[in-house]
Amino acid sequence: MNTDNLVIHWFPGHMTKALRMLEDEIKNCDLVVYMLDARAPMSCLNPSFNEIVQRRPTLFVLNKVDLAPQVMFPHKPVITMNSTTSNMKGKAVDAITHIMKPRIDAFKQKGVNKTIRAMVIGVPNCGKSTFINNLAAKAKTVTGDRPGVTKGKQWLTVADNLWLLDTPGTLYPKITDNQVALNLAYIGSIKDDILPLIEISKQLLVDLKKLDPSCLMHRFGCETFEDICRKRGYVLKGNVLDEERAAKAIMTEFRAGKLGKFNLDKLIDNQ
Ligand code: GDP
Repeated sequence: MNTDNLVIHWFPGHMTKALRMLEDEIKNCDLVVYMLDARAPMSCLNPSFNEIVQRRPTLFVLNKVDLAPQVMFPHKPVITMNSTTSNMKGKAVDAITHIMKPRIDAFKQKGVNKTIRAMVIGVPNCGKSTFINNLAAKAKTVTGDRPGVTKGKQWLTVADNLWLLDTPGTLYPKITDNQVALNLAYIGSIKDDILPLIEISKQLLVDLKKLDPSCLMHRFGCETFEDICRKRGYVLKGNVLDEERAAKAIMTEFRAGKLGKFNLDKLIDNQ
């Protein structure tokens, strides 16, 4: 990335314990559902999950597809999803069943109706809870001392013989590429209160303009951070710009898709 761009000094929280839990729990799971934000799927890939993914078949879910343009994603199998709509359960269940069919059939031959257990993973804010709640709308939480059901874990029954396990939402990747860190900040995967939000929102304007030269003019009628402040009336006493308010507005409107649909991965040098 260019050295004149903003560099995020951001350190991931302690996640060893949470990762250990996942590595332990994967033993009880048949597959992984790997949720990614469709606006930046490559940026959402967490290298800390590699070991977990290698151990089980994995379905990649490009979520928030309503906020993204059509995205090429190299890993398969993959489905796209808008978890906020009510008609997506069949698509997810079908994809999971398809991947697990050989196993389900093998058990069927032995007269066993195999229950598929899927672990849902992904960076914070990619939509794991929304996805799970959507699928499990009419289901009940699996509780009790069943074999393979760890006490205190949130297993949900979704369909006949399909259970989902939610995982902690605080599994930040170890970010080595600054643009990846910025992308995760833009999509809300890194908590705003630990970020320099004014600088981030200014950089977001620069980055969005690279991806779509007319998007800022289209939304704000102007292009610079300062002009946006003035045009929106984000000005304090003494004619001082209310930069914090402008930053929040820019981030919120971008995240809600009001500036357009973007593939932020295109900003990464080697993509
Ligand atoms: P988690 O941290 O991965 O569990 O993410 P959440 O399920 O809490 O979702 C984070 C935010 O993204 C919430 O405001 C959701 O309403 C929103 N969200 C989740 N899925 C989608 C989607 O497919 N499209 C859109 N537009 N928003 C979504």
